[in-house]
Amino acid sequence: MTDFTIFNLFNINNIKEKEKQQNATGKKFNKLPIDFEEICDINRPILGRYIDIVLYRAVLLSLVKYLGFNALSKLYHAGVDFGKRLGVKSIDEMIECFESLRIGIPELVSEDPIKIRVYECAFCSGLPNIGKPVPVCHFERGVLTGCLEDILNKKVKIVESKCCANGYDCCEFKEVSK
Ligand SMILES: [Zn+2]
Repeated sequence: MTDFTIFNLFNINNIKEKEKQQNATGKKFNKLPIDFEEICDINRPILGRYIDIVLYRAVLLSLVKYLGFNALSKLYHAGVDFGKRLGVKSIDEMIECFESLRIGIPELVSEDPIKIRVYECAFCSGLPNIGKPVPVCHFERGVLTGCLEDILNKKVKIVESKCCANGYDCCEFKEVSK
């Protein structure tokens, strides 16, 4: 399995290029003085690399609560940005990366149009059925979209057509026409 745990996780050149463009357009971002290429070194000799999945879910839920207007859309776009930073070059590599980061276990169902099922989704697997056909994995959908846009070199629109929070045993993401 490719090692997505160190610097090759993020396409550093891409990030530098994006920052140059942002500076050129004079855009200022309210951000932590840490960037993605700096988060891979982990010094936790006792606790190690992994956290409780409940904390991941709590972080996303807290963000939704406090982001305010358009929170779900912001979460989705944050996912797209993160997905693009992963620098995956093929769908196989994306699947490997999802497993390595433990986002879930993806299964490619169809390539054209793209349909991918994700089992054991980090955010929703095991959640109760909310009783409405409303999927909840906005960040994960964004990550998938960002990866696919990078791989296919075009804009894609991905919807979550099934979700564990709607009573399914997996999340299903499919490409739809815009
Ligand atoms: Zn889901």
